[in-house]
Parts: sequence; C-alpha cells; structure tokens
Amino acid sequence: MSRKFEDKRLVIASHNQGKVSEFRDLFKSFQVELLSVSELNHVEPDETGDTFKANAELKALAAATQSGIPALADDSGLCVEALNGQPGIYSARWAGPQKDFDFAMEKVRLGLIEEGTLNTRAYFIAGLALAWPDGHVEYFEGRVDGDLVWPPRGLKGFGYDPMFIPDGHEITFGEMEPDAKHAMSHRAHAFKQLIDACFKG
Ligand code: IMP
Repeated sequence: MSRKFEDKRLVIASHNQGKVSEFRDLFKSFQVELLSVSELNHVEPDETGDTFKANAELKALAAATQSGIPALADDSGLCVEALNGQPGIYSARWAGPQKDFDFAMEKVRLGLIEEGTLNTRAYFIAGLALAWPDGHVEYFEGRVDGDLVWPPRGLKGFGYDPMFIPDGHEITFGEMEPDAKHAMSHRAHAFKQLIDACFKG
C-alpha cells in the first residue's frame, strides 16, 4: 500500500524547465501548489545512481529534506536498442555542459552508423520518485516506445523529442502539440501510476 499525499504543497525537484512545465500541465486539475527547486535555491545533488530509480530517489529525497516539503523528482532518458540502451541515464550528459541536444542527437545518429544497424527502435523512460521529509519514498516508472528519425523534426518539445516518433504516430514529439505529447509520454504513464497510488482514495 503506497503512502498517500496529503499536503498542500509539492516541490518539483528539477531545474529542467521542459520537465517543470510538463509537470505543471499534468497537475493542472489537482489542488496542489507546485514549487520548483529553482525558486527555492536548492543545491542539486550529483546523480550518482546507476539506474533511473536510484537517481530519481536521490533527487526527490534531497529536495524533500532541504525544504521540509514532499518533493517529486523525475529521472528520465532515451534508451536506444541498438546502442544497448544508451544514452539512458546519461541522456542529459550526452548534450554536454552547453546542453546542446543537436549535438546529442548527432551522437545518437553516429552511434547507429558505427553499429552499422538499421534498427531505429528506442524508448523513453521516466522514473518518478515522491519523497517525504521523513525519508519515505514511493517510485513509479513509465515508458513510451517508438522509432528514431533523421534529420530531427519540430521545435515544440525539448531534449531528444525532435528525433523520436512514438508508435502509432507519424510525427515526432518535437512536432506534436504539447497536450498530445503529455497525454502519451513516458512521464504521463509514470504520472498516472503516481496519481492512482498516492493521490486517490
Ligand atoms: P535527467 O533526468 O535530468 O537526468 O535528464 C533526462 C534527459 O533525458 C533530459 O535532459 C532529456 O535530454 C532526455 N529526456 C527525458 N525526457 C524527455 C522527453 O520527454 N523528451 C525529450 N528528451 C527527454
């Protein structure tokens, strides 16, 4: 049985504005005030875990204990089948200190060329951890499968969105209206599990 969320405020433990705005959208119909760690001037912990779960949990716990308010963290990334799941938990790091995702997407494309493969299958994973200041954590994971395309298409999303076409669609996440992406994304799948477990009943 998961612990229920019964507070009025929730810290979003991410400095990534793309993620923060996706969470604002997802929480739109809930009576909860969202605070971001950027507003609270929190120090972001190093992502020293070797799984999405470990990294999401350490970020959520750091924010919850620094603020004294429950905190939600997301650790997510793009996993490319032919690259043995890379960049995976290193998805942000592949973009370098400048957070240059054109560079990161090019790195994925070069990786596939190097493998000499026509396998374009990939998936996004989102791990969501909800932590309380007393150290309790709940964790949920969502996934969306699709294919990679080149060149990247669309300016609406963030990160690797312009090179990813979710199954059953013909446009990339970068070309999709945010509402459409937010209804089917890995983050939305994890979010639904979180809501069912911690925000209902
Ligand atoms: P982290 O979870 O902060 O380590 O960063 C995850 C990275 O994965 C982001 O910076 C993006 O590059 C990538 N990523 C995660 N979710 C998405 C998404 O919905 N679209 C595109 N890229 C994503």
